[in-house]
Amino acid sequence: MGLAWTGNGIAAVAGGQADLLNEIMDHELGHLMIGPQHENGTFMRDTLQVINRRVTPVQRSIMLRNAERLGSF
Ligand SMILES: [Zn+2]
Repeated sequence: MGLAWTGNGIAAVAGGQADLLNEIMDHELGHLMIGPQHENGTFMRDTLQVINRRVTPVQRSIMLRNAERLGSF
């Protein structure tokens, strides 16, 4: 299970399927970096039951732009 509160920059992941844990963490961090919206066919889809780590060029661009605003890493 994962949740993200994009307004205050907090994401939490607890339990869930071990084989999806990395993807769930990526998804919740994606909410912090991209926003609350979901996008089917990518790691930001609304249902995380099958592994799909696809990141679109637009998602990547938004994440890099927001990382730059945070001082980059
Ligand atoms: Zn989500």
